[in-house]
Amino acid sequence: MAPEVSLRAADIRAWLREHLTGEFAPLVGTGGPGREHEHLELRAKWERVLGAAGWIGLGWPAPYGRGATIAEQVVFFEEYARAGGPGRLSHIGEYLLAPTLIEHGTDAQRRRFLPPIASASELWCQGYSEPGAGSDLAGVRTRATLADGRWLVSGQKVWTSLAHVADWCFVLARTDPASTRKAGLSYLLVPLSQPGVTVRPIVQLTGTSEFNEVFFDEAVTDADLVVGAPGDGWRVATSTLSYERGVATLGQQLGFARELAAVVAIARANGTFDDPVVADRIADAWAGLQGLRHHALRALSATSPDPTGASVAKLLWAGWHQRLGELAMDVGGAASTVASAAPYDLTDAQLLFLFTRADTIYGGSDEIQRNIVADRVLGRVQR
Ligand SMILES: Cc1cc2nc3c(=O)[nH]c(=O)nc-3n(C[C@H](O)[C@H](O)[C@H](O)COP(=O)(O)OP(=O)(O)OC[C@H]3O[C@@H](n4cnc5c(N)ncnc54)[C@H](O)[C@@H]3O)c2cc1C
Repeated sequence: MAPEVSLRAADIRAWLREHLTGEFAPLVGTGGPGREHEHLELRAKWERVLGAAGWIGLGWPAPYGRGATIAEQVVFFEEYARAGGPGRLSHIGEYLLAPTLIEHGTDAQRRRFLPPIASASELWCQGYSEPGAGSDLAGVRTRATLADGRWLVSGQKVWTSLAHVADWCFVLARTDPASTRKAGLSYLLVPLSQPGVTVRPIVQLTGTSEFNEVFFDEAVTDADLVVGAPGDGWRVATSTLSYERGVATLGQQLGFARELAAVVAIARANGTFDDPVVADRIADAWAGLQGLRHHALRALSATSPDPTGASVAKLLWAGWHQRLGELAMDVGGAASTVASAAPYDLTDAQLLFLFTRADTIYGGSDEIQRNIVADRVLGRVQR
């Protein structure tokens, strides 16, 4: 049973003030986009402090979580962002795998995996994308065969966020060799600490590494660590995708507000705010952010799920954030194009600009989101 914590904003704020201090003080404001490499060990320890206090899995139903309402979870996210809480390491387990296990897992899987996600003693990553299967996820070629009561997994995943710190990976693999496309896939839970797994960080534009290549060479996992029935992995995998973002969106938007405030501060300090075109873009960014917030609140409070709401939200925030990165460079003027020290000592504005290039790709690219809107809302019939 999760520890009881008060979900009142003032109590959350007080808890964060009391705990995000001392040895954790250096974490304030760290670990965000382009800064994922910062303080990894200390952030893992911080996750365990959050877990021990009962802040992980707030929205999961009892007995694993608190069954907190969306409004209560939003308060936590907003206070966390306001306090400058560091970028999270346990969110893939908490927000993607856990709801999937609650919906599709067995009791034994829930008992085995939810408590260590809640205590942050096991961190997870998501093994979907492959060199030939990104937008076209049904092209997955990683295969798994069942032999002597174990799955043997072989293949390559790519762009796997946080695999370099994760203990486990949920892997979409082809388990029926005769199958094609969406049929014959299975959703497997695979431990990463074993000889059959190699994780290679990929250096990103920011000079840091948030994601990785992951190679499976007859990696082993137990026969019962398949979520849903073998061959039903597509259904399970797409339900995981539907949990992406969710209530975390509002905390993310407070981060956006802080970034916008930093851009405004640069523009004020160097006089670029006096340029009417810059002022126009800043005002536009501010208004766009209000729109994002209202859209997120409306989507979260909707009584019936909107099948395209997530696509619309993704399109809106990814484009907004990318334009903010461009604005951050423009208000900085020519200095923005030069790193302050060799080899790659970047300012926050430069990191923001470079990292936001990825926003319109991950979690489903802009083109794919527009395809979804075209098909499901506007009634396009593909020939
Ligand atoms: C920062 C970051 C973190 C990520 N983390 C993870 C992770 O943890 N786990 C994981 O599994 N994956 C992760 N990914 C991978 C991500 O899901 C893929 O990059 C994404 O789905 C796009 O796939 P792709 O890179 O193979 O590009 P492709 O699918 O090859 O697309 C290339 C281009 O073609 C366009 N395109 C493709 N198909 C169509 C179409 N039908 N119609 C119109 N345009 C199309 C795309 O929009 C894109 O512009 C991450 C990616 C990034 C950038």
